[in-house]
Amino acid sequence: MVWLDIGQGTKIAMPLHTTEAIVIGGHDLGEVDRIVVFYTEKLGKVRAVASGARRVRSKFGAALLLFTYGRLVFFERVGKGLHRVNEFAILRPFEKLRTDLEVLAHASYLVELLAASTSDEERNEELFHLLLQALGLLEKGHDSFPIARAYEIRLLRSIGYLPELQSCVICRVPLEPATPLAFSPGEGGLVCPDCQSGRKDIYLVSTTALGFLRMALKLSLDRMGRINLPGTSREELVEVLQAYIRHLLHRDLRTLDFLRAYATLWKAR
Ligand SMILES: [Zn+2]
Repeated sequence: MVWLDIGQGTKIAMPLHTTEAIVIGGHDLGEVDRIVVFYTEKLGKVRAVASGARRVRSKFGAALLLFTYGRLVFFERVGKGLHRVNEFAILRPFEKLRTDLEVLAHASYLVELLAASTSDEERNEELFHLLLQALGLLEKGHDSFPIARAYEIRLLRSIGYLPELQSCVICRVPLEPATPLAFSPGEGGLVCPDCQSGRKDIYLVSTTALGFLRMALKLSLDRMGRINLPGTSREELVEVLQAYIRHLLHRDLRTLDFLRAYATLWKAR
């Protein structure tokens, strides 16, 4: 605990936290400061002011660049929601994520999705490690596409929005993979042939695409990154996951345009 003197003998308590964290966003504040958004291991998403971060000789150097993984020490401003960065020591800079446009597009999408789908200061260690692992695999040069899709479905499960992938979400009949299946973003899962008639918001899902989603919930991201998906299944997966995520967030993410422009694997649109 640190006591900050705010004058006239009044001191306010500022608890000090240390946690591993990844920079997932930020914007400039005033002349020389920056507000940095971190995804931390111990406290989930945290926003904090890095004083003087834009000065030439800032003590933070290049540590606050997007994707940097490090050890964060910050003062908690109780009840204010905006804390103060004391120190951010780089553990892994992930600089290669910024050198290839396609990798950059995918990595930017992963952090934006995490930022958009989580609330401030809700601890979720699983999400922290999911992001850390995904960024590591992208940096190693694994195929970004299956990693991004596996990341999406695991993130959805972790925040409590896993779509129904085993039974019809409307009539609850268990679904065999051979049945012609469809996915409804509004209903939040698969829809059997009987319940598909008359519905407009449905996307066809092949056995391969469904198999990928089910597998992604069980296997490691590393193994998912080695799966060679045919082009049609890639298109289906993008369609279905994007429609569902758009339904949940009520908007498109900004990085989607970036992905569409630069990612050659993004063929669905
Ligand atoms: Zn049904």
